[in-house]
Amino acid sequence: MKEDYYQVLGVSRTASESEIKSAYRRAAMKCHPDRCPGDKEAEERFKKVNEAFTVLSDPQKKQMYDQYGHDGVNAGAGGFGGFNASGFGDVGDIFGSVFGDIFGGGFGGRGGGKPRAQRGEDLKVDVDLTLEQAYEGMEKEVSYHRVERCAACDGSGAEEGSSVKTCRSCGGRGSVVYQQGFFSMRQTCPDCGGKGTVVEKPCKKCRGSGVERVKENITVKIPSGVRTGVTLRVSNGGDIGTNGGGYGDLYVEMHVKEHKIFKRDGDNLVIDAPITYPQAVLGGSIKVPTIEGKEVEVEIPKGTQFADVLKMQGCGMPKLGKKGFGDLLVNVKIEVPKKTTSRQKELLEELAKETGGKKSLFEKLFD
Ligand SMILES: [Zn+2]
Ligand SMILES: [Zn+2]
Repeated sequence: MKEDYYQVLGVSRTASESEIKSAYRRAAMKCHPDRCPGDKEAEERFKKVNEAFTVLSDPQKKQMYDQYGHDGVNAGAGGFGGFNASGFGDVGDIFGSVFGDIFGGGFGGRGGGKPRAQRGEDLKVDVDLTLEQAYEGMEKEVSYHRVERCAACDGSGAEEGSSVKTCRSCGGRGSVVYQQGFFSMRQTCPDCGGKGTVVEKPCKKCRGSGVERVKENITVKIPSGVRTGVTLRVSNGGDIGTNGGGYGDLYVEMHVKEHKIFKRDGDNLVIDAPITYPQAVLGGSIKVPTIEGKEVEVEIPKGTQFADVLKMQGCGMPKLGKKGFGDLLVNVKIEVPKKTTSRQKELLEELAKETGGKKSLFEKLFD
């Protein structure tokens, strides 16, 4: 059984054109061969994702697929022919519109022309924060690598003094068309690699590619209240595009480490506070640390029970992107001493006599 195209992209059957497109980008990024070199499974997945998008992004093919399923779109030898007598000639264009998005404009559009400008790849970096840093917010220095314009040749790919010429093989289109049986295939020009231009003497630094991998150091402003999984976007922080396409974006994902004392529950913080049995019975107050590094006094009401939760309003985490703070939840733990002094023992025995009149659960059960 062939996998359902909608399932392959992870969208519902009612997904809009833009939902399908963004689902495809997400899916294709995950298993892109450049990201998972040598991973056969990722490669298979990548093919499936592309096949699904080829169909679902084309209104005509999508309709055929919705109506007839895989049979509607897979009748021809090439996979995407058959449903339309004149469909064969379009193969190059289908691939151009789909793969062009990923392979950096390797395929030209219908009729050639200028090589397709392609936006650079989005990148992701992870940032580790302590809970205190997440509380405060901070400016954090982040280092990562990205593909940038070659500094030596300013992106031209040509060694100083040598010129850049239009590629003769493809006439500057970046793609060449050749015939294979029924199919007229458009392929990336092997001589210029899709750029449409060739250099006389390639730049020594980038070997004519016009780009180089560079280390970037940027400062990211992390707002207070972030939690693990929150991702900040740095516009144009990703790889440079090809053929004049813009930069991709950089995504900075937050990872907030666990804290020794505080547990996080949304915007609330939770802390365990040991109290004594007399404190629980008679009431009193204890001091509890806050994430800010201060101490707050917490009232223990008379008759506090085991696992009662006392709320210190506004002593939790700042609400991300909003005003205000969560609460500090104090989990009361009534401590039972393992050792007692003889005086304590005497008092407890006295107390036991006083409370001894109470029936046990067992007795209550048979009453
Ligand atoms: Zn260069
Ligand atoms: Zn060429």
